[in-house]
Amino acid sequence: MTENVKPKLETYLPPPIIALVKHAGERASELAMGVYLVGGVVRDMFLERPNYDIDLVVEGDAVRVAHALANESQGKLTTHSRFGSANLRYPDFSIDLATARREIYGRPGALPTVKPGLLADDLIRRDFSINAMAICLMPQRFGDLIDLYQGKQDLKRKLIRILHPDSFVDDATRILRALRYEQRLGFRLEANTEVLLRRDVPMLGTISSDRLRHELYHMLMKEPKPEKVFTRAEELGVLKQLHLSLKDNGWLDQKFARTRRLYKHISLATVYLCLLVYDFNETELGQVIARFNLPTTMAEAARHAIRLKAKLHELDEPKLKPSKIYRFLRPYSAQAIRANLVATESPVIGEHLKLYLTKLSSARPSLNGDDLLKMGISAGPQVGEMLTALHNAKLDGMVKTRKEEEEFVRSLRSGCP
Ligand code: ATP
Repeated sequence: MTENVKPKLETYLPPPIIALVKHAGERASELAMGVYLVGGVVRDMFLERPNYDIDLVVEGDAVRVAHALANESQGKLTTHSRFGSANLRYPDFSIDLATARREIYGRPGALPTVKPGLLADDLIRRDFSINAMAICLMPQRFGDLIDLYQGKQDLKRKLIRILHPDSFVDDATRILRALRYEQRLGFRLEANTEVLLRRDVPMLGTISSDRLRHELYHMLMKEPKPEKVFTRAEELGVLKQLHLSLKDNGWLDQKFARTRRLYKHISLATVYLCLLVYDFNETELGQVIARFNLPTTMAEAARHAIRLKAKLHELDEPKLKPSKIYRFLRPYSAQAIRANLVATESPVIGEHLKLYLTKLSSARPSLNGDDLLKMGISAGPQVGEMLTALHNAKLDGMVKTRKEEEEFVRSLRSGCP
């Protein structure tokens, strides 16, 4: 017998979203089409975890349903006719609509050929049973749960289960997705899924750099504790398949947790990445950058992180002048310095790095080159030299006010700073 989850859905989704998905059902019905709520939001409704990434699948033409819905609401419509999909953006949430698709996999790892299909075709192409449930939105059947692969039972048993034995061969990014869901939700791989995952780990070699990077971003940006995913990836032989030198020996656990404690208001992904490759040499790092086709800023931060690590002992000197610390660290990116602050075990080095990040990197004298010229310094290289000396004096706390800066410049001019 079909289970109806209308009351649950109506308490889970905020009223404006409920109103919209009902409208979607009505418009689709008028067009003699079907429309269903699918994927993560259905899973998270049962788990009582907030998720307002609304994904709808339309049996028919998602773009037509999206147009009909846009006409009667304030949503900003974007359509991709070639893919039969559309997005409706509202101030606090957005709705993705996709035409139900059937996928045919040619070669492992390559993107599949896609054809229009029915809901059942769309569900079988999905990664795991817990992501393959749908809720019917048409008025006559509103709230009917469509659970062709026992996803609800797997939610109860806390299991991640693939839908067919070749799932990881068709698309090995699912290996990484499985580990993310397992750790995020506190689930386990279903026994046979784990056997097949271990068997198919080498298929990760078929995945393009861009798709791998996309998965890496998800791990580093979307997961609350990415270190747990890496620990599990190590256990299952996934980490070394991504790169032979990638390891998780317990160090990452401690360092990722410290990263979150230290930096509350910045995006942590680049710092995490620097820590992930912290023990690499330049050649190994170059291979990782190429394998994941990392963007320049991330790649540069990682290079800076390991270069700074090699010279970090030079900061292990308690009486180092702030201006010396500044000149030493200035060539390195802030993210690389943050990663080294997390990594170092030396309190002295830690204090110096913290001082740089919180104060020195932004401390500037208030006088500039023009001010010096106005004070009668003649144009030429001495202006730059005086500005550097003034900046150092500012960093070292020798000058605080603008007046003190002017006195300092005058004393430099008369040859006795
Ligand atoms: P979350 O990370 O919270 O699960 P989500 O469920 O929206 O977010 P997405 O990565 O946006 O996940 O994917 C949306 C849906 O598409 C998933 O629920 C899943 O059913 C399906 N999906 C995504 N990637 C794959 C894949 N590689 N293979 C099969 N199905 C996939």
